[in-house]
Amino acid sequence: MLCQKPATRSELAKLTGLSPATVTNLTKELIAQGLVDESRTLESVGGRPPVLLEFNSNAGKVIGVRISRTRVQAALVNLGADALAWEEQRLPEHSPEAVLQVVVDVVRKLCVENRVHLEELVGIGVAVPGIVQEDTGVVRLSTFLQWREVSVGSQLEAALGVPVLVQRNGNASALAECHLNGEQTATDLLYVHLGDGIGAGLVLDGRIYSGRTGRAGEIGHNIVDPHGPQCLCGNRGCLEVLVSGNALARQGQELAASGRSSCLQEAAKEAEITAAVVIAAAVQGDAAARELVATAGRYIGKAMAGIVNLLDMDEVVLGGDLLEAGDVLLDSLSLSFYGALLPFRVPEVRLRVTTIGPKAGVLGAATVVIQQFLSKGGRY
Ligand SMILES: [Zn+2]
Repeated sequence: MLCQKPATRSELAKLTGLSPATVTNLTKELIAQGLVDESRTLESVGGRPPVLLEFNSNAGKVIGVRISRTRVQAALVNLGADALAWEEQRLPEHSPEAVLQVVVDVVRKLCVENRVHLEELVGIGVAVPGIVQEDTGVVRLSTFLQWREVSVGSQLEAALGVPVLVQRNGNASALAECHLNGEQTATDLLYVHLGDGIGAGLVLDGRIYSGRTGRAGEIGHNIVDPHGPQCLCGNRGCLEVLVSGNALARQGQELAASGRSSCLQEAAKEAEITAAVVIAAAVQGDAAARELVATAGRYIGKAMAGIVNLLDMDEVVLGGDLLEAGDVLLDSLSLSFYGALLPFRVPEVRLRVTTIGPKAGVLGAATVVIQQFLSKGGRY
């Protein structure tokens, strides 16, 4: 509670429903740990003047790491998740040994350059593109990295000697969007990543919801066309195989070969058609490419509405490279999203584009560690 804004002991007692004596004891412990400061004395309205208590976000440091297909990004943050320094390194290859070695190097570099000893860190949060068993820190499956059952948490803990919490990228981004976007936001939030793949993260009641086996948020495998192409998951017509960046690239290549898009046909002579090329053609007004992107928006919007209707959420945040398509994507996406919401919910639900961008995964991974640390009263 104090993380949001300073408060007096009697305000805390009112807000928490705890007795004044309990609040006094708890705050005494937090002050002794350096997590809370007695910042200033307010004017008395009779009796002893109340003292304003403030969360000391500099009482500890955490490192957040995000592993993507091409790189490792990391930040040293304080307990308020304010980034103090950033570091980034490209991945030479995708074997677990190579990727985890890059993570170790990046963490050590951040510490050395900022004069922080590893043992001073409260913990390290790592976000990965895959399904994670959070309690063990094992990445069950990552199709991007082609990993199965990789014990990321314990291997990094052994190498660095610091507690490590592992989280999937979508969830870490969702948590950052919920807590760190600088505005008063909802405590329930759906984050949808529109990139090479389609993924989502759920925050319910201010905390990540991962499901029983860590697979919550698999929006990419919503079937939107039962007669569509076969997906890697084994089913047909998933969002992933119809509207992801990889799918747009494939469809763009087909368009170029069919001659139905002169723009893509020309582009194919220069280089391979990627999702970025399709999006650029759509933004420039190529009718066939526009239709591809707009159709993607319609499918995605409808799938998101199903989740918001089910969970009664207030906010949806979009991130990822496909947003480069701008209104070509967003117009059809929001039309189909609001069109498929329960009508009485339409005015209440906010749909927005990320304000934090790709850094959300890094800061969210660190936020998971901070939440755990603070929920245990500043112990790990
Ligand atoms: Zn699928």
